This record gives sequence, structure tokens and C-alpha cells, in this order.
Amino acid sequence: MMQYRAYGKLGYEVSALGLGCMRLPRLYDGSAQARVDREKAYELIRCAADHGVNYFDTAFSYHNGDSESVLGEALAADGRRARVKIATKQPLRAMHTQSDIRRNLEATLRKLRTDYLDVYLIHFISAGNWGEIKERKIIAEFERFRAEGLIRAIGFSYHGSLPAFRDILAYYPWDMCQVQQNLLDVDKEVTAEAIRLAGDKGCALVIMEPLRGGGLAVAPPPVLEIYEKAAAGRGAVEWAFRHVLDYPAVSTVLSGMTTPEQLRENIAVFSRPDIGPNCLSAAEKDALRRVKEVYESLTAVPCTNCEYCLPCPQNVNIPDVFDMYNEGVMFGAFDQPKRKYMFTVAAGQDASRCAACGECAPKCPQSIPISQTLATAHEALRGWIE
Ligand code: SF4
Ligand code: SF4
Repeated sequence: MMQYRAYGKLGYEVSALGLGCMRLPRLYDGSAQARVDREKAYELIRCAADHGVNYFDTAFSYHNGDSESVLGEALAADGRRARVKIATKQPLRAMHTQSDIRRNLEATLRKLRTDYLDVYLIHFISAGNWGEIKERKIIAEFERFRAEGLIRAIGFSYHGSLPAFRDILAYYPWDMCQVQQNLLDVDKEVTAEAIRLAGDKGCALVIMEPLRGGGLAVAPPPVLEIYEKAAAGRGAVEWAFRHVLDYPAVSTVLSGMTTPEQLRENIAVFSRPDIGPNCLSAAEKDALRRVKEVYESLTAVPCTNCEYCLPCPQNVNIPDVFDMYNEGVMFGAFDQPKRKYMFTVAAGQDASRCAACGECAPKCPQSIPISQTLATAHEALRGWIE
């Protein structure tokens, strides 16, 4: 039976597996943009709701604005909406004026065919936009929505490191936060320490990218060998899920499934009686540490993220670009890094800005030919359209 967990201080009981609606099944028509395959998406969403998944996550911008509509249409049938929790997000970049914030929420409610949201998040808070979010009093706008009954909880999603996360968490009594965590990002994105901090504050924790955009679902042979020795027969996907479910403070883990088969397999994993808080033994944790080392040895650019090359006069975020490129090479899959890179482009920090001034390379302790490597990375990462 699906496992359920407490959701911070809100009193929700949520399924440990949540459905992320960022990667719904698509129809490819040869153009740069692929539309959601509605029939397949309805089937997937309804199958999830009918088999114990009660947490659905979407966003104003997913699938070019269509994800909320598809989710709303799928859940409108047979009273499913009332049985589940819907979380969605509004990004700062859609809030051109203060009145946009309400207009965007109203559009979201229409698309989701509901008159309230269970959770409303500020999408993608970062160290770079946090100052503007505070200055424009966006949380106060969200509080008004909550007082009017349009939303029931306020949260944020975050990609980044511990210090900025600490600041954001300390600033406001958030109901929830959504963070990236997986067995490769334990010490990079939001860390175990951050998860504990949020849990101690009664802030519900929703984990995204437990499989790193699907990359951890298929393991290379040396990783498989470690897995097999540590627990014979346990698949790579289950290892990745166990890693995040081990944290007692985690409420739900989002997975962007695209087929009913993936959904059924994941439901089976999340229904195992021995999977839950503190489910990993010391030996299993050690196996995961070695798995991380193997993945890291498959790195294409030996960037250590030391940031000695920064600041770049053109504002290129050199280590971030290399990190995304390494991720794509490591997994042989660029979908996820390309999507992240789209945000880097929007922030004006992508590799195309490099003017080949040569200032950075002499500062690099790894002797990376930075400008040339940035050009290679840009070719591999550009072109994502959402
Ligand atoms: S070479 Fe490119 S990345 Fe390096 S400092 Fe100059 S503009 Fe920035
Ligand atoms: S100096 Fe070199 S190793 Fe350090 S962040 Fe820049 S590119 Fe990476």
C-alpha cells in the first residue's frame, strides 16, 4: 500500500510519491515545441489519483503554460480534485507588475478548474532574485490570497546552496519548500543539513529531481556492480528513491513519470513496507557514497566549482555552465541540463556572453581552457524551449 507522510505543520497526509507535471507525455510534430499528448496525460494523472497518489505538482510555466490546464482537465472528472492536493507555482519573471500576481493566480485557478490551491509557491527563488521578492512584498500578496481562501499554503521552490536557503527559510514561516535532492547532489544543492533545518521549523519538504531528470534511472556498469553487491536485485530507481525517503523530514518525493508503466513501478517501490524514514543502513549509505564517486569520475570538465575564475566581466556563470555540461555528458542525456540552462540564459549568465577576453583561464587551478570549453558547452546546452 502507498506510504503516506505528514506535510509539515499543515496536517495534510500526502502520498510519499507525488506526480510532477513538468514532463507529461508529449506529441512531437517536428516543430521545436512539442504539445502535451492530452489523452495519455489524462490516463497517467487519473491512474495516479486512482492508485494512491494524492499530491500533484505543476507550475504556471510548465509545458508552455499547458501543464496546469491538462492537470485541471484530468482531475475534474469523477470528483478526483477533491481527493488530492494540488501545488502550483508562479515565477517572478511572470510578475511584471503587482497586479499581474493576482491575474496570474486567477488564470491558474481557471486552468486548474478549481477555486482554491492547496499549496502556492513562488517558483525558483534564488540568491539572485530573493532581494526583489522581498522588496516587492510578494509574500504579502500571497498572504492576501490565503486570507481570501484562494490558496491554503505558501511555499517556495529553490535550487542552490545552503547559505541562501538558510536566509530564505529564516525570513518567513513558510508552510513548505520544494528543493532538489538526489544521491549525487547531497553536498551541492540543498543538503542534508538544510533538510533538517526546514524539518525543525515545521516546513513541509517536497523533493524534486530524485532521479536527476531521469539520469539516475539507468546506471552504468560500475555503479550497477556496487548496487548489486549492497542489495541484490534492487534497481537503480529504487536506490535513488530510498536515498531521499531516508530523510525523516521529507513529506513527498516528486517524480516526473511519463508512462503508466513507470507510474506502476514507482507506486510498487513507494509501497514497500521497509522503505521510509531512516530506511538506509550504514552499509547502504556507504554504497551510495561510492556510487557518487563513480559518477563523479565520469566528469567531462574537471571544474571543482572553486569560483576563482569569477567574476567574469561579461557575467558568465562559468562553474554553473560547466556543471550543467558535465551533467549532460555524465548521463548521456541533455534534457534536464538544457532546461536549467534556459534559466541561465534568461539571467544573462550563459556561455554565449563570453567575449574570449582571456581574463579567467590564468586564474583556474585546473588549467581548463575556459573560453573554448564554454563554447563547446553552449553548443550542447542551447535550444531548450518550454
Ligand atoms: S574569457 Fe569569457 S568567460 Fe572568461 S572572463 Fe573573459 S568573457 Fe568571461
Ligand atoms: S577557476 Fe576553474 S575550476 Fe574553478 S570554478 Fe572556474 S573553471 Fe571551475
